[in-house]
Parts: sequence; C-alpha cells; structure tokens
Amino acid sequence: MPQNLEPLENLIDQFGRFPGVGRKGATRMAYEVMAMPNEQAMQLAKAIEHAKTDLHRCRVCQDYTSGEICKICASPKRDRSTICVVESPRDIQSIERTHEYNGLYHVLHGLISPMDGVGAEQLCIKELLARLDDTVKEVIMATSPTVEGEATAMYLAKLIKPLGIKTTRLAYGLPVGASLEYADEVTLYRAMQGRGEM
Ligand SMILES: [Zn+2]
Repeated sequence: MPQNLEPLENLIDQFGRFPGVGRKGATRMAYEVMAMPNEQAMQLAKAIEHAKTDLHRCRVCQDYTSGEICKICASPKRDRSTICVVESPRDIQSIERTHEYNGLYHVLHGLISPMDGVGAEQLCIKELLARLDDTVKEVIMATSPTVEGEATAMYLAKLIKPLGIKTTRLAYGLPVGASLEYADEVTLYRAMQGRGEM
C-alpha cells in the first residue's frame, strides 16, 4: 500500500483487532467508514470516545456503569443473598431480559483459558471473594457451558464451597458448546430455573 494510504491501513489494523474479524472483514469495515459522510464517521469516533471515558467498572460487581456503583448493586429491591457469576457484562443483559432473577451479579471479565494464556489471576476473582460475607447464601455459576466456562465454574466452586456458601450451576436447557449470549430467553429461563448445586 502506498505511503499516502497509511491512515487507511491503520484503520484496517484497528478493525482487525476485533475477535472474529479477519483481514477481509476489517478491510470492508474500514472502506465502509471511508464511504460514510464525514459527520457520521465522526459520530462513530465520538461514540467510542464517550463510551470509554464516561463508563467504567462498577466498584462492586465489575459491570459497566457511569457512577461509582451500578444500578443493580445500588438497588434496594435486589436480593443480596445471591450472586450470579458471569463471564461478561453482555451476559447480565441476557439474564435480566428473562425477568427471572432478582439477585446480584459479578462479572469475571473473561474465563480461565490456559490455551489462550488466561489464568485465574487475570479475572475479577479476588473482587468476587471480597464480596462473600455472611449475607451471601448462594453463588450461581452462569458461565457458558464450554470447556473454559466449565473449568472456570469448577475452579470458583472449589474456592467458594469451603466458605459454607452454596454454589450452583446453570443446568439443562443451554446448548453445550454454545455461548450464553446467543441463548434465547426461554432457554435461559429454563436453565436458571433448573440450576443445580455443584
Ligand atoms: Zn455493580
């Protein structure tokens, strides 16, 4: 690519950083941005800037929030005896849509994956353990039913069980090997209903 097209090359590189986006996809996205009216492209850039500067992790559950503590953690209506552990903030949205769960959440921001070099110390596990006082009676492992999701749930159950807190796992209904975020509401509802003790 000629030197005067370096900004375009840089844009392709940036889009290529998204998981699941290959060189081809990144190139298409970069050219789409170039084809946008200036104002629209600037709105996109500003939206990224605003989301990254105005939002940060909730001090308690690690979900994204604009305040110090997120709405769910701050709500007096939520059941404080149950914490549902999820891989990412997206999973909270999925579970909230079922209207079946009224407890609190905890976001790990990843799963243990030795293949990808992700160890337990890179996840928000110590933040979870710090929350486990006398008010917590149950921790639900709502990680995806994948190899990494299962391994993470097992690892956490081993840490939490000795504290005398019940650890449960989302059970039937979820397709094995699929990611939680793609589960429909009914499937997720049944899985939540049929969760079993680990
Ligand atoms: Zn929170």
